[in-house]
Amino acid sequence: MKHPYSDIAHCDATAFFATSEPTDECEIHAQARVTVAALQQTLHALTDSGIENAVPMALLLYVQSKELQTLQYFFPIITQLRGQRRQRWLHWFAQLLIHTPIDIAFIRNDRHPAPLALRCMVVGQLVSCFVDRPDVLAAFVTTAPSFWLCADERSYQRVGGIGGGCYVDTEHRILLIADRLFEGYRAAIPGVCPLLHELGHMLDGTNRRLRAEVFCRGDFPLMTRAHQSAWRRAKRDEVQQYEQYRTNSAIIGRAPLGHPYVFQTDGEFLAGYWEMFWRNPNAFARTAPELYLALTQYVNHDPRAYTTDYRGYVEGNAAFYARGERAWPRDIRIDESL
Ligand SMILES: [Zn+2]
Repeated sequence: MKHPYSDIAHCDATAFFATSEPTDECEIHAQARVTVAALQQTLHALTDSGIENAVPMALLLYVQSKELQTLQYFFPIITQLRGQRRQRWLHWFAQLLIHTPIDIAFIRNDRHPAPLALRCMVVGQLVSCFVDRPDVLAAFVTTAPSFWLCADERSYQRVGGIGGGCYVDTEHRILLIADRLFEGYRAAIPGVCPLLHELGHMLDGTNRRLRAEVFCRGDFPLMTRAHQSAWRRAKRDEVQQYEQYRTNSAIIGRAPLGHPYVFQTDGEFLAGYWEMFWRNPNAFARTAPELYLALTQYVNHDPRAYTTDYRGYVEGNAAFYARGERAWPRDIRIDESL
């Protein structure tokens, strides 16, 4: 039996193997097929290293075939890459994965370099966000970022992990339980992405380092004065929407796009809106067009070109405000000089 990539990319590998035969073939394209038996071996290797939950088939297909197309389920920008842009994506992917690799470690009892299956998720995400800002990628690498992916909760806590995932600014390090890399990839449309959220915090930390500042200020690295001013002005408008809701306990005009969680600090605002920019760009652009434009100008491309919105955040947040739930305190400090 033959299983086309588009049908199985999001399937949980363990569940898929339970209903397929080892001799079945998974077809990425006409010249690239992998047997289920080979994919089962790849999963076993991952399971042995401690990754046990929810591995999507797309990942196993990548590790087995190295076909770029297999990563498009995780990074849909790949469907749009042509010519020089495609070369740039591939160049940076190889650069960060192989030539001057960033520190992506797997933590179990000891710390080891993470296997390809985990490294490709981190590097693919970085390159997909910044394919049109290679200067940001180049600067990012110079700040010595690290990603420590933990086999389980115990290892996570041992290295200082708190909550469901975190960015440790003093170490410039993202800590995450490894299988959370796959958390939002259990349906045809990718959903929550803890890596993108923590990457937002890490970009804030990158900016702090590049500017040799003491505190993170909720800005992105290598923003021009125009980028920064557009971002802060649009952020101020969004915060005002939230403030109106907080004052009146009711929606005035429109509800903010983000959950009250993101209005707690400048860092959470950046991380929360950064994740939504990639996950629900169409709803983002309709609701907060100025803020959306500021981010497209900064990353120098528009994710609406290749993204089908995940509705979870947008609908959940809209429902929160529509119910008139009590707002959370906010501690966002907008730079008045903008
Ligand atoms: Zn956060």
